[in-house]
Amino acid sequence: MAVGVYPGSFDPVTYGHFDIIQRSAAIMDRLIVAVLNNSSKSPLFSVEERVNMLIDVTKHLPNVEVQAFDGLLVDFVRKNHADVIVRGLRAVTDFEYELQLSQTNRVIAPGVDTIFLTTNLKYSYLSSSIVKEIAMYGGDISAFVHPSIAEKIRAKFAGES
Ligand code: ADP
Repeated sequence: MAVGVYPGSFDPVTYGHFDIIQRSAAIMDRLIVAVLNNSSKSPLFSVEERVNMLIDVTKHLPNVEVQAFDGLLVDFVRKNHADVIVRGLRAVTDFEYELQLSQTNRVIAPGVDTIFLTTNLKYSYLSSSIVKEIAMYGGDISAFVHPSIAEKIRAKFAGES
């Protein structure tokens, strides 16, 4: 039974993240999307909001679950008896950071491997930060996030939530 952990900030989840979730869930028995509760970044959405948004967009995928985590990723991976970490690669700019991260994780936890899925070309330019920037100026983000997420972003910038 192969269990994967797909960690990230997901602030908020985009179609790029969702594509990686769908594709990795298709090759694994169980996928845990792990939402980082990171106190050093100041996210737009709270960790509870980010978890709930992910639950909403993945509810039709029976082998996907969503959990919040803090602390070391490898500890979370071990605690959940997972086999691999899943990460997405968009461009060479992601590569250096991702390589450093995965090698460090292997040193501190030799049994934990990382697999990379390359982005769907359609979403290779897409990041949560870009979506937030467009939304902040009232732009149309419907090509980047699920409709329910777009509404939550709109409400957040309008001060309604
Ligand atoms: P982090 O703060 O850990 O970088 P993100 O939420 O930005 O968290 O991203 C989580 C993971 O999803 C990372 O592996 C990132 O490279 C990947 N990712 C983000 N956007 C895309 C995309 N458009 N296509 C493929 N992978 C993506």
